[in-house]
Amino acid sequence: MKMQQDKVLLLDNNFLYYNRLMKRKISILGSTGSIGRQALEVIERLWDKFEIIALTAGSNVELLNEQIQKFKPKYAYADDKSKIIGAEYKTLDEICSDKNNDIILVAVSGRIGLKPTITAIKNGIDIALANKETLVMAGDIVMPLANEHNVQIIPVDSEHCAIHQCIKNINQVEKLIITASGGPFLHKSIDEMKNATVEQALAHPRWNMGKKITVDSATLMNKGLEVIEAHHLFGMNYDKIDVVVHPQSVVHSAIEYKDGSVIAQLGLPSMHIPIQYAITYPERYEGIKSKSFSFSQIARLDFEEPDWDKFKALKIAYNCGKIGGSAPVCMNAANEEGVFAFLKGEIKLFDIIDIVEKMLEKHEIIQNLSLDEIFEIDEEIRQKTRDILVKK
Ligand code: MG
Repeated sequence: MKMQQDKVLLLDNNFLYYNRLMKRKISILGSTGSIGRQALEVIERLWDKFEIIALTAGSNVELLNEQIQKFKPKYAYADDKSKIIGAEYKTLDEICSDKNNDIILVAVSGRIGLKPTITAIKNGIDIALANKETLVMAGDIVMPLANEHNVQIIPVDSEHCAIHQCIKNINQVEKLIITASGGPFLHKSIDEMKNATVEQALAHPRWNMGKKITVDSATLMNKGLEVIEAHHLFGMNYDKIDVVVHPQSVVHSAIEYKDGSVIAQLGLPSMHIPIQYAITYPERYEGIKSKSFSFSQIARLDFEEPDWDKFKALKIAYNCGKIGGSAPVCMNAANEEGVFAFLKGEIKLFDIIDIVEKMLEKHEIIQNLSLDEIFEIDEEIRQKTRDILVKK
């Protein structure tokens, strides 16, 4: 018996040693976006641990080409393939079919992330997930598929990444507690929020993110989307997912175990930490961490109940999540079109949520959707939302 244990230990050590020698092969979908750029900063610090298979961009080919020169991926994708210099062009789907990848960081925003993610899962490639739409639109398809193919989905979003770090055994968890910074309008009146300018909505007090997600953080729709994602990622019922406002963004989220113990994950608000966690999991390295955490420097941590009247989006998202089927698809599509219109100065901040409500009122919920149906409904809602916006 003793000998057998030693053997197992030896094998384990060999495996770990081997694992440490091997570079993790990674592709980044959306390498020129906010998460993609920060991921490359993490990888640069851990360069002996990674090999980049592919980088992809949309229209920012200039930055993509700089990244290609520096990180030497074999393959690249951009909307205009003729402009790519120094790497072979491949589509997102081809990149995600390449079994040389150990992990793919899905950091594109929008529905464009969904199909390549599914392709990667079908090819048994682990996913570091930063794309919200994947689970909001198709969590019922994506999670069972990941289980079937034994694929790990490691969340990059700070809240889900925190919960991922806290959970040892999901069956012992009583509830998830997702923190929200509250955004720039946390202690502003409803009137001030109603008349907010684009500039005010984009002035997020804690996180530096892309424009769409920053506006979603101002309305708390972002938190609503995160509740739906958490439901899928961790298989928790909606009545077991709480949201608490925590302006300092130091506690990134927590879980309460059935015995009353609460485990939270804390850290300075930097996306480098969850990105690094997701792409190096289950290892941990020093990496890019800039300074050590100090409770005394932080001094205080505040928590409060969300203002459900001011942040109606949160309530809508919970309801859509509970209804399931096409409800979150409709909500997400209408919201995204609304946010684009707000960013163009065509509507006010509160109009985004009014439009989402209007679209949901008219929408006939369909359950058990196929991927094609999801895309059809998404497209139909976007079209209808744009039609309403034009008439406004
Ligand atoms: Mg988040």
